[in-house]
Amino acid sequence: MSKDSVQDGLVVSMEYKLIVDGELLDSSDGAGPLQFLVGYGNVIAGLEKEMMGMKIGDSKDVVVQPEDGYGEFDDDAFMDVPRTEFPADMELEEGMELHVTDEDGEHQAAYVAKFDDKTVQLDFNHPLAGAELHFSVKVVALRDPTEEELDHGHVHEEGHHH
Ligand code: ZN
Repeated sequence: MSKDSVQDGLVVSMEYKLIVDGELLDSSDGAGPLQFLVGYGNVIAGLEKEMMGMKIGDSKDVVVQPEDGYGEFDDDAFMDVPRTEFPADMELEEGMELHVTDEDGEHQAAYVAKFDDKTVQLDFNHPLAGAELHFSVKVVALRDPTEEELDHGHVHEEGHHH
């Protein structure tokens, strides 16, 4: 198969902008093009699907609905936790991100929705849950992954391994 277009098992470098509600939330302008290995869930599904077949130099605007992005906002994804579960000297703030471990040992991000002296309400929705994501992407390079990258299922940036 010819490898001159975006497809599973190739590493794509892309310039991108992410706009939500008319506001620029993220872009490659500062950090440079983002690289990702296609087909391993490294970028949100709705974006990857729309990029399939793009060639180097191609640009595209992609609108991703919540179900293919960060999910629908879930009114039930809130949990009340006793304030005593948190260190007494921990300064809580509305909107702050916390990393919690559930009963299965899975790490999850949660956000402080509100709190008082007794109870902290955590919100497990992703901050972009329910949002329609407007991406502008441009493919700037394509390459084969290294064996190690393929093995790990993600890109290894220079001088950075995990
Ligand atoms: Zn790795």
